[in-house]
Amino acid sequence: MNGISATHISYYHLCHRKLWLFHRKIKMEHTSDTVYEGKLIGSQAYARRAGRWRELSLGPIKVDHFDPRQKLVREVKKSPKLEASHVAQVKYYLYYLEQAGVDNPRGLIEYPKHRKTTDVRLTGADRQEIRGWEAEIERIVQQPNCPELVRKSYCRQCAYRDFCFI
Ligand code: SF4
Repeated sequence: MNGISATHISYYHLCHRKLWLFHRKIKMEHTSDTVYEGKLIGSQAYARRAGRWRELSLGPIKVDHFDPRQKLVREVKKSPKLEASHVAQVKYYLYYLEQAGVDNPRGLIEYPKHRKTTDVRLTGADRQEIRGWEAEIERIVQQPNCPELVRKSYCRQCAYRDFCFI
């Protein structure tokens, strides 16, 4: 498999069916108002503080906001409801940066609407866990059939909702 992106990591934590569909390039994100609004919040917050942030591409990883002086990754999200997957995504960024030779990178997740920020650091246990995520993602996306639908509260805001329920 050609590189695991942060979106793979995020979807792995949300729904294995979503991960499988995304990997097969069945993309419906552009139809989701939730996703659009999230991106809008990110760009608005970015515009206010554009100076210190750089966009960074590393293989399959694309970090929208990276401060090279502080080795800081910043991710802006709409709501902390799915915080576990946001933290996983940022940990993967940090893991990838470390692999690329960046020493001790840090992460910050901002929820502007909720006036909340979450600091993210990478531990030894995280590094081991991330290798497990990668192995599981490889296994799931290589399955010939789409994983079975498991209804969850997140389905209401998922871009694949119509695909799964209509
Ligand atoms: S609608 Fe629900 S089951 Fe279907 S891909 Fe999204 S989260 Fe998974």
